[in-house]
Amino acid sequence: MLVKDITNYLESIAPLSLQDSFDNSGLLIGSPMSSVTKALITLDVTEKVINEAISKKCELIIAHHPIIFKSLKKLTSSNLTEMLVIKAIKSDINIYAIHTNLDNIIGGVNNILASKLGIKNIRILSPKSGGLSKIVCFCPSDYADKIQKAMFDSGAGNIGNYDSCSFTLNGTGTFRALEGSTPYVGKINQLHKEDEVRIEVIVADYKITNVINAMIKEHPYEEPAYDIYNLQNSNTMIGAGIIGELDNATPIEKYLKEVKQILGTKYIKHNKLIDRPVKKVAICGGSGSFLIDAAAKNKADLFITGDVKYHEYFEHAGNMTIADAGHYETEHPVKELIYALLKENFPNFALQISEESANPISFM
Ligand SMILES: [Zn+2]
Repeated sequence: MLVKDITNYLESIAPLSLQDSFDNSGLLIGSPMSSVTKALITLDVTEKVINEAISKKCELIIAHHPIIFKSLKKLTSSNLTEMLVIKAIKSDINIYAIHTNLDNIIGGVNNILASKLGIKNIRILSPKSGGLSKIVCFCPSDYADKIQKAMFDSGAGNIGNYDSCSFTLNGTGTFRALEGSTPYVGKINQLHKEDEVRIEVIVADYKITNVINAMIKEHPYEEPAYDIYNLQNSNTMIGAGIIGELDNATPIEKYLKEVKQILGTKYIKHNKLIDRPVKKVAICGGSGSFLIDAAAKNKADLFITGDVKYHEYFEHAGNMTIADAGHYETEHPVKELIYALLKENFPNFALQISEESANPISFM
């Protein structure tokens, strides 16, 4: 197996183009062509984790947090990052990060957190704007169904919990085949009119190439006509945080105690507890206080995340409880998620969740 076999698969689920602009996901150290027999999955890359990879003969570390975040201009062991990068390179260890691209998809980090915390009927809390396009293509009427299906099968036409979304319109296409062409219908140098169908589908930008290729493959014309429009719409399938509901409204203290136990967190810091049972819960694993307002706007009773700052606890007091259950505690389930994703596709590949990946924060 090559490193790229693993990373290409992970990127088919969480494309790098979906990472936030500040992020640095992807292969950070090594080569896509390196062969790999065993991979180690971790939240962070620390010296202990690199030593673990060496002793367990893992040629690849798959981490959630990118070890290289800011640009490196030299490698002289002058700080921890430089030391770790040098150690990994000297030890022939490839390091791959799957970070906000995995946070920003349905089925990502917050998904596994939601299922652990009993949150159902989930949707993205803060959908990303942009990243969506409309493809319009024109084909002979007889081919419309086949082409439409090929476009759906390759990833077009998904809106919320619906797939196969499209709009079609019958019309007349015209063209004149010039010397050197081999037209599917019509004669050289004669204007031809053909009954055609206009097919419109919505598509996430990262799937455009796939969809266009699938459409062209089924299209009978030598030069299929199609347009790609950029859309301003938000993509409800891509974005930060998740919001959903508990099966039953639960007293907030009772639910937070359950959260504490499930996540294995010692303390939950929170603002004023709301004086009603909690039903609607928003979550963002890791550092998610930037979503406090989005959670309140979506009428969450409770927002669970990590890294909430002092002043943020004043916000929405009485209307929504903000609970900081810890960055590590709300994010470490990502290791299980990466493990499960890879095991599903590569059942025989040797994979291990790091035993050295640990919370750097201690409590006394
Ligand atoms: Zn994080």
